[in-house]
Amino acid sequence: MIPEERVVFDNGSHQNILLEDFGHGEMVQSNVHLIVDGGEGIILDPGGHKVFKHLLAEIGGLIGVDNLKYIFLSHQDPDIVAAINGWLMTTRATAIAPVLWIRFIPHFGVDRLVINRIKGIGDDGAIIKLGNSDLYIIPAHFMHAPGNFQIYDPVSKILYSGDLGASLGQDYTYVENFDDHIQYMEGFHKRYIPSNKILKAWVKMARQLDIEIIAPQHGAIMKGKDIVNRFFDWLEDLPCGIDLMEDIYRVPSSYFEG
Ligand code: FE
Repeated sequence: MIPEERVVFDNGSHQNILLEDFGHGEMVQSNVHLIVDGGEGIILDPGGHKVFKHLLAEIGGLIGVDNLKYIFLSHQDPDIVAAINGWLMTTRATAIAPVLWIRFIPHFGVDRLVINRIKGIGDDGAIIKLGNSDLYIIPAHFMHAPGNFQIYDPVSKILYSGDLGASLGQDYTYVENFDDHIQYMEGFHKRYIPSNKILKAWVKMARQLDIEIIAPQHGAIMKGKDIVNRFFDWLEDLPCGIDLMEDIYRVPSSYFEG
């Protein structure tokens, strides 16, 4: 039985589940999500070796390992891709990732036997079928990776935003007070997102979607249209990356001290 807090949406035939957080120690806290429709599943950004076997067992208990249809890799970071070989070896799923990273992902150690089950999606994104539902793989390039996708699920109206909206250090699962929550998101966005221009362009697309919930890969979930709109407003006005670091390219003058 999954705790209610981790069932983000359930209408009987379609479920959106936040899987248990098995990551501890030095790893950055990461959310791994599962979408199920008609018994078929897609796992989002499954992470590294230490969480792999626990997540695989949880998927087995929820839908059966053979019913995992897709493994979604939003971008190339190790907190997303590191255990991909294990996932491909133990399931029948197809992994989908930005085409930009297809030649780099094999460096995580992918066996020849399964390499052809990693499929690249072009920059424009695509729609995929899961059970009887459609999932939109939408472009989120440069946020932060230059090849980056998010998933919009029109049934649950959840946008899985990957690193966008990531927060670190708060002790709650759902954002209650947006103003208070900004402090946990600010540092990451200012340093990892290259410019405000790219945020404005993304918000313009995202505002066209009917979104009730934004579920990032790290930290708290933003629930309710009011908080979703507050998030968009905040992003539109946020200076980041090169807006703040114009003076970054200087030849160093001091020694590394370890
Ligand atoms: Fe990342």
